[in-house]
Amino acid sequence: MAEVTCARCGKVREGAGKVGLPGSLGADVEARICAECWREWLATQIRVINHYGLRPATREDREKLYELTREFLHLAA
Ligand SMILES: [Zn+2]
Repeated sequence: MAEVTCARCGKVREGAGKVGLPGSLGADVEARICAECWREWLATQIRVINHYGLRPATREDREKLYELTREFLHLAA
């Protein structure tokens, strides 16, 4: 797995790799987020979805979730 300089923690670490997110967000996570921060987001994401009452099956809520993903990972849109 390639190493990245992580946009969130600032450390050079093993990258998150393919995360299954679409478009530029998926590419940004792959290139700029470490595996550890990505795992942290996956755990946090569950609370975020519950907190906002998001339904990721709907397009609008998915967009909101992607926005929150960028925010959490310090990836400016
Ligand atoms: Zn990191």
